[in-house]
Amino acid sequence: MTAVLTRSATSVALDGVVKDFGKTRVLHELSLEIRAGEFVSLLGPSGCGKTTALRLIAGLEDPTAGAIRMNGEDVTHLPTNRRDIGMVFQSYSLFPHLNALDNTRFGLDMRKVAKEQAKAMALESLELVGLGGLAERYPHELSGGQQQRVALARALVTSPKVLLLDEPLSALDARVRVQLREEIGRIQKELGITTIFVTHDQEEALAISDRVAVMHAGRIEQIGTPEELYLTPATPEVAAFVGMSSMVPAIVHSGTATIWGQLVPVVGGSPDGEYRAFVRPENVHIAGPGQAGAAATIETSVFLGSFRRTEARLESGEVVSLQHPADLRLERGASVRLVIEPMPVVVTSARG
Ligand code: ATP
Repeated sequence: MTAVLTRSATSVALDGVVKDFGKTRVLHELSLEIRAGEFVSLLGPSGCGKTTALRLIAGLEDPTAGAIRMNGEDVTHLPTNRRDIGMVFQSYSLFPHLNALDNTRFGLDMRKVAKEQAKAMALESLELVGLGGLAERYPHELSGGQQQRVALARALVTSPKVLLLDEPLSALDARVRVQLREEIGRIQKELGITTIFVTHDQEEALAISDRVAVMHAGRIEQIGTPEELYLTPATPEVAAFVGMSSMVPAIVHSGTATIWGQLVPVVGGSPDGEYRAFVRPENVHIAGPGQAGAAATIETSVFLGSFRRTEARLESGEVVSLQHPADLRLERGASVRLVIEPMPVVVTSARG
């Protein structure tokens, strides 16, 4: 276990934070409590305000209203260099003329840490991110994933109280992205450092976070564990953004939806009426003998290793995705009947 990189964990709270740029309000009374040592992702589509929220926590922007606290202390007007945070951005942002070691020790040199001690701390930080052997390499001699590891080592070397990560994986190819996100998860747990991670990639957020805050149009729609968000999305926006779903017609009566002639529980309360329901692919099946279900025609069926993902068009026109074992082969144009598992569904207005 590292000695210099250890620091007791810090909670972070946003309390009714508002941010206006000119006449445009981009954050609407954002409130969020992040526990000490927790890994929380801010997830949402482009432009929903994730980066702005992170920059406010970093002290790179001033809120229009509201407060930001760290361990209960009001830091709303504290400059960035006094907030004790480490940051990693999407672009590698390394100094091209400094090698990995000198890039990593930069923050220590700025703080006038003694030369030998700074070198030892930087090497330890590089070791932590798996780059112990590449300390002499310059950025152009490192892959994108390795450069992001150096950026992470540099952010961690000063033992910050909070680590802020702004889409740090989005410039990397898929395989490296998965490797590095697993590394980030391991390092975060090892150090116990409170971490806030901004991403628009829902799989990334679900895979790495203790909790995820789903943002939409400057507001937090829901915050919860990955399981809570996936299984019981609180709003149509969360259902649509987290995980894959199809929209199918549903009639709600006394809190229960009828979909394809079957009764399915509804998340939250909705008045009686016609809706569209979000249905997960793993909850749709091909009807067995004696089961009724909805008539549909197979459009595509793709082999994905351990399962197949199939798209079927209902007679009412909607295309429904289903996921099933790879040994069930479904030909394009085949007539099938679809049934649904009675898992709770989110419903939204029948129009729009
Ligand atoms: P992305 O994933 O595309 O980075 P985001 O969710 O991080 O999106 P923000 O970068 O926080 O979104 O931007 C939120 C809104 O605020 C956007 O509409 C953006 O155009 C606007 N915005 C951000 N920074 C500024 C600025 N300095 N001046 C004016 N408007 C800004």
